[in-house]
Amino acid sequence: VNFKQLKTFISAQMRMSHVYQPVMIKTLLKSKGKSSVKKIAKELLSYDVSQVEYYEHITKNMVGKVLTSNRKITSKEGDTYFLKAYEKLTEKQRQELIELCNDKIEGYIRKRGDNIWKHRIVSHKAVPGSTRYEVLKRAKNRCESCGVPNDVRSLEVDHIAPKSLGGPNELSNYQALCYVCNSQKSNKDSPDFRDILENYGHRDNEC
Ligand SMILES: [Zn+2]
Repeated sequence: VNFKQLKTFISAQMRMSHVYQPVMIKTLLKSKGKSSVKKIAKELLSYDVSQVEYYEHITKNMVGKVLTSNRKITSKEGDTYFLKAYEKLTEKQRQELIELCNDKIEGYIRKRGDNIWKHRIVSHKAVPGSTRYEVLKRAKNRCESCGVPNDVRSLEVDHIAPKSLGGPNELSNYQALCYVCNSQKSNKDSPDFRDILENYGHRDNEC
């Protein structure tokens, strides 16, 4: 394969069902012609706007606030965060702190397992595409909690009464939530079952 063949492939022969092929080729071009599966997957992830937006929200409203306002370890100017002590660190100290962070990350994941990412996975796996379409149509493509439209913040299908508490897999038990409202609902430590049932009953009457 030479330059001309690559150019012809990318410009005329590549049949795209998604952005995957150009992202993978670009990743290889930018990393000296070779790349691991994980690296390519991360590049693909960076194009998934709803995932990136979700973590932008986490950064600004959760971790960024804790480290900046509460702990005073970082500062913020516009869209940029600064580590306050960075200028004073030697290269050796910097490495030591990075390793300390790695220990903390690995320790937390070892202790809690894959559960810590569950709130992102659940909604996509649980509901088939045709049901998702019906739920979003019924919600007029808006979050049923805060009202934000789907094109501003991507919507997810939520079980009103959770499956773990016996909530059924049927349209009356589904609602469209934006990823912010959905993560707030999922992150509640002990869901108030009574509230959930009231909400469920309310929806039932509407249908
Ligand atoms: Zn919302």
